[in-house]
Amino acid sequence: MTFIKPGSTIGILGGGQLGRMMALSARNMGYRISVLEPQKDSPCGQVADHEVVAAYDDKQGAEDLSCDVLTYEFENISAETADHLASSLHFPQGSKLLLISQDRLREKEAIESYGLPVAPYKKVESDTDLADAVSALGLPLVVKTTRGGYDGKGQLVINKGDEVSVRELEDNGPFVAEQWIPFDCEVSVIVTRSVSGETATFPVAENIHRNGILHQSIVPARVSDEVQERARKAALTLAESVSLVGTLAVEMFVRDGEIVINEIAPRPHNSGHYTMNACATSQFEQHIRAICDWPLGETTLLTPTVMVNLIGDEVERAVEMRKELGSAAHVHIYGKKEARPGRKMGHVNVLTSDVEATLEQLNVLEEAKS
Ligand code: ATP
Ligand code: MG
Repeated sequence: MTFIKPGSTIGILGGGQLGRMMALSARNMGYRISVLEPQKDSPCGQVADHEVVAAYDDKQGAEDLSCDVLTYEFENISAETADHLASSLHFPQGSKLLLISQDRLREKEAIESYGLPVAPYKKVESDTDLADAVSALGLPLVVKTTRGGYDGKGQLVINKGDEVSVRELEDNGPFVAEQWIPFDCEVSVIVTRSVSGETATFPVAENIHRNGILHQSIVPARVSDEVQERARKAALTLAESVSLVGTLAVEMFVRDGEIVINEIAPRPHNSGHYTMNACATSQFEQHIRAICDWPLGETTLLTPTVMVNLIGDEVERAVEMRKELGSAAHVHIYGKKEARPGRKMGHVNVLTSDVEATLEQLNVLEEAKS
């Protein structure tokens, strides 16, 4: 029996904003929510029926979720815990994709093995390896920790003339050294596959990063139809190759009309937040449909949208943005108590018939602030 009936309990590992938005969608569909998170009153905990306060790898904590189906909102779950969960709970997503996506080296090897392009890279364990990587890949290049990096953390860009040492990364390694791709733009595709094997992709988003953190997603992406089709096909290839169940976000670089896969995340993703207001089905509802084995929802883009992240104290600007941009601005706030610098506090989806005009309006708002 793979269909999970409304009224059943969905357990979520991790209490952040992704879990919160999953939970809100699941509640609309009639499910109960149980969340495991070490921090009490987390963004997801605030909207859940039941909060288990325990470490992510706490096996008893996972049992205490008393859930009918288990999912997760972040990928850094240890292999041992993931295997334990898969053997003791109904965990349709399984642990295979988790293990691939939590290690950048394994991830790149897997993507290549499915016939898809990644940036040329080398495994690096010492400064000697790094010097070899510089010779092989050229400069600039970027060195990344293989585990635990997010929002550009755990990365070191090396330019011509820079001192070359892995010590700066404050991690024991191994690392991945990657050729720097002078991309025309970055895009992403959210693909979902249900327990029954039905697949669907959301429209391609164009992503603008600032200080290594996603700043805006523009949908539809300002790339040709051919590039959009390539991006969508690559995401579907990945979904089928890993026998995806649930949601997979695929981040890509676009250069001269070709795509290069940057990284994947086995969950709903920041660059898919626009779907909450711009598509008939949100990425969160789609995720719940996939793991509970509903038919997947319609993913057509109803209107062009600019998603803007609210980082750190920018959350204070949400009201002002709502005033300036009017009813087209849909504000989502995650319920985090402290607005630390670089912390994702919320986002605004601005629905628009004129993307360029909206981007200009957002620019003016930002300049007025600084
Ligand atoms: P996130 O969690 O926000 O997705 P992350 O910390 O996992 O990010 P990456 O996605 O690997 O890190 O890199 C963050 C950003 O840095 C990319 O979106 C891109 O803008 C830039 N970047 C990373 N690697 C490269 C590269 N090889 N060439 C050019 N730009 C790169
Ligand atoms: Mg990334």
